[in-house]
Amino acid sequence: MANGNSATLTRRYNRTVVLDALRRHGSLSRIELARLSGLTPQGIRNIIEDLIDTGLVRETGRRRGQRGQPQIDIEISPGAGYCLGLHVAAGACHAIATDLAGNVLARPEARALGGDHGQQLDALGAIAREVASAADGLSRLGTGVVVSRPLASRWSATGGLAAAQADFAKPFEALFASTPLVFENDANAAAMAEYTHGRAKGRGDFLYLFLGEGVGGAIVQGGVPVHGGRGNAGEFGHMLIDPKGPKCHCGNRGCLHGSLALDGLRRLLPAGAPLAPETVPQSWLDGAASALSRALVSLENIFDPQAIVLGGTAPAWLLHRLVEKMGDPGPSVRSDMAEARVEVSGLGQSCALIGAAALPLLALTSPDPATLMKEPLVEQAAD
Ligand SMILES: [Zn+2]
Repeated sequence: MANGNSATLTRRYNRTVVLDALRRHGSLSRIELARLSGLTPQGIRNIIEDLIDTGLVRETGRRRGQRGQPQIDIEISPGAGYCLGLHVAAGACHAIATDLAGNVLARPEARALGGDHGQQLDALGAIAREVASAADGLSRLGTGVVVSRPLASRWSATGGLAAAQADFAKPFEALFASTPLVFENDANAAAMAEYTHGRAKGRGDFLYLFLGEGVGGAIVQGGVPVHGGRGNAGEFGHMLIDPKGPKCHCGNRGCLHGSLALDGLRRLLPAGAPLAPETVPQSWLDGAASALSRALVSLENIFDPQAIVLGGTAPAWLLHRLVEKMGDPGPSVRSDMAEARVEVSGLGQSCALIGAAALPLLALTSPDPATLMKEPLVEQAAD
């Protein structure tokens, strides 16, 4: 397929517009799809016919009780295939497989990824076989791979990281490149899980604050994570909160990271004590809630998001305590909203892994031009 063919790109774009509308709304009639997409009724009929042929969408029955011709609802077929999500952290690869509605089909044990290429291929191959067997004949529509760091980092002075990343990608490409393969960082992936299945569902412009051993974030605009000029956008942890604050590993003083990250909190716990509601020092909670509040006001003023979701690998009880302690963050462009200024994620500590499996679904349904230039998830019929 020629990526540069404008008719092909236009057709693929129109298909993703339709799939995007179906993903957002659940089910729609052809007439509603034409109205929402701006495409002609005939164009919609052709696209739906093509999508039904590929198994990606299905008709779910006629609506009753309406005047005139009853309309037939169309929806994305959850069992059209499965999405594989992989999250590589601390030398292990965690995996999940979901259908297109986000239902979990398989969640095998994490496997050590090993240091050399052969070991990595063995571990990933074993995961792939286990997932394929659990998916019971469904085909893989795509794979999302998530890592806990920026994917192209300005923190690398030598440029060595780019080479390391190419090496990192090789075993995944060897095994999973027959269907689209999307690499993303953990905060962006977790944000996309919120967008497809969580608090930000239906809200394409939002921010995600990822609280874990470090503090990261995602800026989502039009349903697409913003990567920035060199892939580092969303480093909310290095917002300067207090110029007199402690020195941060980035070289500045008083970053949000120093007040909020779990690695700092763990150092304050009594020796051997676990992170638990009764072990968190009140002084840490006060400082963290205050720093979070200042960060939120700035983020709201800069981005005016529809929502801000707080999630990450921190336990849910800690996220809720922080938000309770913070109270009202003070005036900003969003402070007249009736809704909560910040919402705690309901996806739990595996949010990045859940997001990994959401990435291929979004690649399938996103009209984002960067996604469109890649190979299609399901080969389309020739013109
Ligand atoms: Zn910093």
